[in-house]
Amino acid sequence: MKLLLFGANGQVGWELQRSLAPLGELICLSRASTEYCGDFLNPTGLAQAVRSIKPDVVINAVAYTAVDKAESNIANAYTVNADAPGAIAQAAHAVGARLIHYSTDYVFNGSGTTPWDEADTPCPLSVYGASKLQGEQEISASSVRYLIFRTSWVYAARGGNFAKTMLRLAKERDTLSIINDQTGAPTGADLLADITAHSIIRLIASDQLSGTYHLAAEGETTWHGYAQHVFAQARLLGVDLKCKAENVTAIPTSAYPTPAQR
Ligand code: NDP
Repeated sequence: MKLLLFGANGQVGWELQRSLAPLGELICLSRASTEYCGDFLNPTGLAQAVRSIKPDVVINAVAYTAVDKAESNIANAYTVNADAPGAIAQAAHAVGARLIHYSTDYVFNGSGTTPWDEADTPCPLSVYGASKLQGEQEISASSVRYLIFRTSWVYAARGGNFAKTMLRLAKERDTLSIINDQTGAPTGADLLADITAHSIIRLIASDQLSGTYHLAAEGETTWHGYAQHVFAQARLLGVDLKCKAENVTAIPTSAYPTPAQR
C-alpha cells in the first residue's frame, strides 16, 4: 500500500509517521518539500502531487491551527483549511485514492452541556472553525471515499499545545489565571494516529465506509482543570514550578478576551 502523508511535522503528523510506517510505503510531504508540492497555500500544486504520486491513501494532517491569528489572516486560513483539502480530495478521487482528514470541535458553537454528536448541525463561531467546516464540505462534495475525524484539545510530546504552554508559564510566573468555563476532552496525537492506522485498514477493505466521525479521548475537563493536572504531574516528576498550586486562579472566559470566540 502506498500512503501519502501531508503535514508530517505537526503534532498528529509526527505520530502518524510512526503509526503508518508498518502499513506500507509512506511518502511524507511538508511545506519545504521540493520534488512534489507540500505547500497548502498552493492547492493546484498539491493536486498535481497527488496525481503524480498516485497513492492508495492520502492522509492530511496539515491545518492552519492558529485559532486567534486566523481571525486576521482569513485568506490563508481558508486556503489551508478549505481550498487545499478540497483540491486534494478531488485529486485523490481522480486517482482512486482514499482520504483521511482531521477536523475540530470548533465547527460547533460551544453551547450546551453534553458532547456533540455527528448528527448535530455545525455552527462555528470563529474563522478557524468556519474554514475547517468548509474543508469538510469540500471533501464530502468531491466524491472521494474519506474519513474525517473531528477531534479536540490535541496534545503531543512534539509541537505546540496548551499543556506545554502552561508548563512554560508555570516555570516563569508566580501566578496564573486560567479559564474554567470551557469544557473539552484533551486527546493525544498518539491516540489519533493509532486509530487512524487501524481505520485505514478498514477503509481500504470496505466499499461502503466513508464519512465524518467524532474522535476524542474519554472524559472531560476545563482548561483550568487540565492545567492543574499537568502541574500536579510535573511536580510528581520533580519539575520545579515557580507557580504554586494555590496561585493558579480559575477565571471565566469573559475575563480573558481573545480575537476568536470560543
Ligand atoms: P499542528 O499545528 O501541530 O500541525 C499543523 C501542521 O500543518 C504543521 O506540520 C504545519 O507545518 C502544517 N502547515 C500549516 N500551514 C501549512 C502550509 N501552508 N503548508 C504546509 N504545511 C502547513 O496541528 P495538529 O497536529 O495539532 O492538528 C492536526 C489536525 O487536528 C488539524 O486538522 C487540526 O485542525 C485538528 N485539530 C487540532 C486541534 C489542536 O488542539 N491542535 C484540536 C482539534 C482539531 P509547519 O510545521 O511547517 O508549520
